[in-house]
Parts: sequence; C-alpha cells; structure tokens
Amino acid sequence: MFCDLHMHSTASDGTDDPGRLPRLVRDAGLQGFALTDHDTTDGLEACAKAAKRLKIAFIPGIELSANPDLDTDIDPEPDVPRGTMHILGYGIRHDDDKLTQIKTWLVQARAERNPRMVERLNELGVRIDYEEVVAEAEGGVVGRPHIAQVMVRKGYVKSVHEAFARYIGEGRDAYTRKDRLSAADAIAAIRDAGGVAVLAHPVQLKLPDADTLEHVVKRLKDLGLAGIETRHSDHDPGDTERLARLAERYHLLTTGGSDYHGSRKSIPLNATRTPMGVFERLQDAIQAPQ
Ligand code: AMP
Ligand code: ZN
Ligand code: FE
Ligand code: FE
Repeated sequence: MFCDLHMHSTASDGTDDPGRLPRLVRDAGLQGFALTDHDTTDGLEACAKAAKRLKIAFIPGIELSANPDLDTDIDPEPDVPRGTMHILGYGIRHDDDKLTQIKTWLVQARAERNPRMVERLNELGVRIDYEEVVAEAEGGVVGRPHIAQVMVRKGYVKSVHEAFARYIGEGRDAYTRKDRLSAADAIAAIRDAGGVAVLAHPVQLKLPDADTLEHVVKRLKDLGLAGIETRHSDHDPGDTERLARLAERYHLLTTGGSDYHGSRKSIPLNATRTPMGVFERLQDAIQAPQ
C-alpha cells in the first residue's frame, strides 16, 4: 500500500485539474495522497471532494517558498546562485486568515518577478509576452514552468528542462529572484493554520555538506518544523537513507512524494513508492494537539 504526499495541480504549475487528481491516484494503485500546490490552497476543496467520492485518503497541503538564508532576510549577494527552500504544510485550514495573508503576499511577489523575467528573456532574444505566460497558467499561480512552456511552444527551446538549463534556472541569465518569506514565517503560518510543517526535497537546498544540512534542520526544528521529506524524485536511495537518519536523530517525521506536475514534467505519480504507513503517521501528527 502506497501514497504520494507531494503533488501539484492546475491551481499552481501542474497540468491536472485538482478534481481529477484523485482518479489518477486511484488508477496508479495508491491509497492516499496530498495536494501541495505552490503558494495556494485553491485546489484543495475540489480535490478533497473528489477524493471523498472515490474513498481515497487525502491530506490537504501547500508548498511555501521560503528564504534559504536563515540568518538574514536581507540577501547581501542577490546574484549568487543558491538552492531553493520549500516548506510543505500538511493538514492546514485553508481559510485561515494569516495563511491567506501570506498566500496573497507570495502571489504578489510572483506578480512582481514574472514580468521582469519575461523582460529579461526579451532582452536575450526570446520574444514571449507576459500575457501568454498568464494565459498558460489558466488562472493558477504563475510560475517558471509556465514561462518555460511558452518558450517551448514558441520554439525557443525543445523542452521545459532546456528552458531551465539555458535561461530560467537559478544562476542562468534570465533567472530573477522573487521576494521571499522567511522560514520562520512560513513555519509559523502553517502551524497557526493547524498544519504540520515539513522541509521539502532537502537536496534542492544545494548545501555544501552534511554538517550544514544538520545545522539548517536543527534551526528549522527550533522554529517548529515537524518533518523532513526523505523520499522525493530528486533523491537517490542514499539521500533518502541519510535524510531518514537525520530525521531520526532530531525526532522528526519522514514524508515522501513524487512532486508530480502532470505533463509539464516527466515525473510519474508514485515515483517514490512511499508506504502508506508514512501517510498514517503524518495524519496522526496533524491530529495531535500542538
Ligand atoms: P517558481 O516557484 O515560479 O520559481 O518555479 C518553481 C518551479 O520550477 C517548481 O515546480 C520547480 O520544480 C520548477 N523547477 C525549478 N528548477 C527546475 C529545473 N531545473 N527544471 C525543471 N523544473 C524546475
Ligand atoms: Zn512546481
Ligand atoms: Fe518544491
Ligand atoms: Fe513541489
């Protein structure tokens, strides 16, 4: 029995409608899943409803982008390529006031960054319009994968992957950073909304060594982090094993998920084969009083 605790829908940069995901999850032979769209909870209601109808266990979630620099919100060297810090929030009340404020702020930060990134692409000879990018997102939270998709459609690159590798990945010429939430605020918002905070795909932090990762995890735990995503499509078995040991040392939960985005990325649903026991332990943590 397996589950997938990291999935995206059209509410952010996935390609499947949130109301359709439960059927895909069932057809993949899974018993449970979580929807974790970037900076939005807009897909949760439709997804929960469909999951209930199909009797698939469901946990509502979100994936918040945070500043990986824990020591300061003011980045001294904004052009230095760094890793990404994403915090997953599970079991959140999606209508929570503080969380709503944060979601609005994050979407605003995207609305400021995205046109600048398109402008930069234009300077580099990649002639796409911001309106096309917004249209690509079909009302969902606009992200780099939508920009990449427009670039593919207009023939500037052959794949979304190539768009990131050549233009919009961190450190590439058109990469533009957005204003970011501090990890402390991200974790506090998740907890205040009744949720459990989990560090997503730690390898994407791109930290230099295991000691630095341990330091970051320790700091995040002090801020209220409850778990680490040990299984992820970017992790090899060695990563998963090392992260599980780290989680054990700090009495943190372990979670796992594919980071499925539908056809915009080539990651299959259930890519991580996360046992259903992981879902159940997460569910227990959500229900336990804080
Ligand atoms: P954004 O939050 O708009 O900056 O975009 C983040 C999204 O881009 C996430 O879904 C990431 O998984 C995706 N992403 C980041 N780097 C890459 C990459 N090199 N190739 C493909 N997708 C990526
Ligand atoms: Zn995404
Ligand atoms: Fe992520
Ligand atoms: Fe994700």
